[in-house]
Amino acid sequence: MRKLEGLSASRGLVVAPVFRLADAAPVSVPRFRVDEREALSQWDRFERALDRSRAEITHLLDKSNKEQSDILNAHLMMLSDPEFIPQIKSALFETGWNVEAILKDKVDESAGILRATGDAYLAERAVDIEDAFDRVLGHLLEHTPNAQRGTQNRFIPPGTILAARNVRPSEALSLKGMGLAGIALEEGGATSHVAILARSWRIPAVMGVHGLLDAIEDGETIVLDADDGVVICDPTADVVGSYRSKALADARRRESTDEARERFAKTPAETADGVRMTLLANIAHPDDALIAVSEGAEGVGLFRSEFLFLGDADLPGEDAQFEAYRAAVENMGGKPVVIRTLDSGADKMLGEQMDLAEKNPLLGWRAIRYCLDRRDVFKTQLRALLRASFFGDLRIMFPMISCAEELEAALAELEEAKAECSREGLRFNAALKVGVMIEIPSAAVCADLLARRVDFMSIGTNDLIQYSMAVDRENPKVAHLFDCYNPAVLRLIRGTIAAGLDEDVAVSMCGEMAGDPAAVFLLMGLGLRHFSMAPTFIAPVKELIQKVSIAEAAALAGAAMGLSAARDVRRLVQERMKDL
Ligand code: PEP
Ligand code: MG
Repeated sequence: MRKLEGLSASRGLVVAPVFRLADAAPVSVPRFRVDEREALSQWDRFERALDRSRAEITHLLDKSNKEQSDILNAHLMMLSDPEFIPQIKSALFETGWNVEAILKDKVDESAGILRATGDAYLAERAVDIEDAFDRVLGHLLEHTPNAQRGTQNRFIPPGTILAARNVRPSEALSLKGMGLAGIALEEGGATSHVAILARSWRIPAVMGVHGLLDAIEDGETIVLDADDGVVICDPTADVVGSYRSKALADARRRESTDEARERFAKTPAETADGVRMTLLANIAHPDDALIAVSEGAEGVGLFRSEFLFLGDADLPGEDAQFEAYRAAVENMGGKPVVIRTLDSGADKMLGEQMDLAEKNPLLGWRAIRYCLDRRDVFKTQLRALLRASFFGDLRIMFPMISCAEELEAALAELEEAKAECSREGLRFNAALKVGVMIEIPSAAVCADLLARRVDFMSIGTNDLIQYSMAVDRENPKVAHLFDCYNPAVLRLIRGTIAAGLDEDVAVSMCGEMAGDPAAVFLLMGLGLRHFSMAPTFIAPVKELIQKVSIAEAAALAGAAMGLSAARDVRRLVQERMKDL
């Protein structure tokens, strides 16, 4: 038995088998001389590799939580460093070496200077520099970044303690959701990104354990006591026994708050007088579905599929999309998943839309309009969605529908995609539900006409407010007009809910308004029963629902609809909220 000292980076105690991650093989970087003309083309290649790396990071940022985006933003800054990048250029023209060799040397030099300070924080930044520029080097050498070891492509058995010399931030991101029991590293400190991530995932972690990799065998059971910052290798049966009971008691104590949260997540979203609401999640990536489930979502009310399309120059193909949709459906374990077809344009531009440089992109070639023009792109997505529908309760929703003709055209395209899939013998759910977003005032006014052609409608208040109030949702100068309590907006919402009731079509809301407990109080009074929101809002919204009765909500809505200013409605709702 050997006890190794380290630093506690994320508290907790665990006894589990170890998964020993071997060191990365050093990347072999070619070195050769280039003349001035070749240097120019080398610089072009470097700039392209930089652009691709930045685009990849931006794409990852869309799907990241706070801790992950801190790391990625730091990498983005490094890849635009106003001192470092020009140094590469001058070295390229002055030394006559190829760009890969220059980049490697410069990165080694900068990381070396930081490490030589002996400061733990600066040593971590050295790892960041290497990680960020390895991505660029990967593109220059035309292989996947970090693929030489890559936890990204490795299967690490759930329930094991990951032991390694170090884990790079980009690798650390891929550890999420692997079900690790703990992390023990030879290097790193409490400020390292992997430590930050381990804390956010609540996984015990010990860093700076000298001699760790030499002391352990892959698969052996070790004790990771991250409260005391120690790793016990080759523990005796007695030690294992005593740490196991300690770990159990510890876990019980720590989990009491988590348990309360989990218990609440399982309670129904039911009003004090027993009326059931449905709380759904808005997601942008298949993995988000797991968070949605843990927060108690009863399904996904909006999967913003456009996030699969942004960031990369090439649009995702049918198979890549199929995998993503299937993963989302499977992650929700049989619960409904509403996937919105591509809603690009305006604030979420694809390259082709950007090139058009429209005068009014918000009123232009976006979402369903773009898809109905680019039938190839639309058909590819519809086929991928249909194929994924075989694996669960996948539902399709069309965004930015402004009139019945657009809806007819989108439905016709879906029928054609179904016919194609049938001809090709591809399996899909022929009875899958189809819905429409109500986010343009014309659609809200004619919601009854649209309702007759679909299985459900979902109110997108973000755009509905923008278009009904003629106020750019991202312009702070006119933000005071962007108010969900404006009577015009409330009337459009009320009309849509009524049209759904008349036509016997379910109505939900997936705009931000649905994640605001005060607004939900009012919306329940207007007859809304299905709400879709960012997973973190599910608990506060449910708490509100359980506190109030439908009678109170109806009284609030009745009073609010008699007022003529958004300001007065807001005040009224806030007063009723205070009474709770
Ligand atoms: C909306 O407009 O309310 C909506 C949910 O869609 P997005 O925010 O993606 O435009
Ligand atoms: Mg919208």
